[in-house]
Amino acid sequence: MQPRRAFLIASVALGLGLATAPTRGFTQEKLPVVASFSILGDFVKQVGGDRIAVTTLVGPDGDAHVYAPTPADAKAMAAAKLVVVNGLHFEGWLPRLVKSSGTKAVLAEATKGIAPLEADDDHDDHGKGKGKAGHAHDDPHAWQNIANAKIYIVNIRDALSAADPAGKASYEANATAYLAELDTLEGEVKAAIARIPADRRKAITTHDAFGYFVKAYGIEFVAPQGVSTEAEASARDVGRIIRQVKAQKIPAVFLENVTNPRLVEQIARESGAKIGGRLFSDALSAASGPAGTYIRMMKHNISEIEKALAAGPA
Ligand SMILES: [Zn+2]
Repeated sequence: MQPRRAFLIASVALGLGLATAPTRGFTQEKLPVVASFSILGDFVKQVGGDRIAVTTLVGPDGDAHVYAPTPADAKAMAAAKLVVVNGLHFEGWLPRLVKSSGTKAVLAEATKGIAPLEADDDHDDHGKGKGKAGHAHDDPHAWQNIANAKIYIVNIRDALSAADPAGKASYEANATAYLAELDTLEGEVKAAIARIPADRRKAITTHDAFGYFVKAYGIEFVAPQGVSTEAEASARDVGRIIRQVKAQKIPAVFLENVTNPRLVEQIARESGAKIGGRLFSDALSAASGPAGTYIRMMKHNISEIEKALAAGPA
């Protein structure tokens, strides 16, 4: 009779037994941490392991440039001990959320110490960002260079250790192991780029999310939309890019997981370039998708890029 209840009682007894032990058992509260978007959420989980409980605000395939926070986000912020953000003006909606949630959490910028790239912004409508305080023209997509991702990890490790000093050794061990994985990943990306003939290392993306990738790995990406998805590309920008694709024989245009495919499809149609698959720029896929973690995202992207660019015209 009632094997389930018997099991429950046994579990409770076990739990109580561990709770009275002098060392920390599974009854210890996990450190509540908020990460502003999915890529940071993965980084924080990699370093925090099972000592922390992460809430990610902008989820898989979400666009953090234009996010509207929910009441649940404010609740998570209020409960958090640590909030990890990208910085470089990526999360324009964050200051208001911090204020409205009344959070007392420490705010850690994962890009601290990274030299930001200037947004390469010759788009007609980039004036929209003008007049804002600070460096509105920093390119926020620093994670697209794996060398920068390592700085994110070190910053996250230090922020977690400060918020939860008892976990310092654990965060250090997790970070060291993950940094070694990033070293391997970096080698793989460089090797893949080296396999693409030099004159074919160029492509079109929807928004200017790959500036750090381009600079680190020696490939050229052109985008009709600027570093934010906030402003739409003008007809003049699109016309200029179509001419550029034809003149420079740019082999492929890529779709992005966070942007509307219409623009890229139009450029492909009118320029004759092929559509080279979908790149993950500003967000991971769902866990079951092709880019459920940062490492899987970078592997997916480089594999799509190599597939589209390595082979010559049919
Ligand atoms: Zn972006």
